[in-house]
Amino acid sequence: MKYKVNKEKCIGCGSCTSICPLGAIKIGADGKAEIDKNKCNNCGKCKEVCPVGAIEEEEDGNQNA
Ligand code: SF4
Ligand code: SF4
Repeated sequence: MKYKVNKEKCIGCGSCTSICPLGAIKIGADGKAEIDKNKCNNCGKCKEVCPVGAIEEEEDGNQNA
C-alpha cells in the first residue's frame, strides 16, 4: 500500500512530519503536507497520527501525487 496526502483535508499541523522515521513527509510551499515517494517506505505511521484523516491509501500503480 502507498500513501498520499489529500490536500483538501490537510491542515498543515505537522504531526506527520515529526512522526515519519525517514523524513519523507514535509510541509510544502502551499502549507500542506506532501510525501516524497522516493524516501517513503509506506510504513503508515503518518496516517495513524493525522488528526483529520488527510493521509489516504492509494493503489499501487496510481501515479497521482
Ligand atoms: S508512510 Fe511512513 S515513511 Fe511514508 S511518509 Fe508516512 S510515516 Fe513517512
Ligand atoms: S498530520 Fe495530517 S493534517 Fe497534519 S500536516 Fe500531516 S497530513 Fe496534514
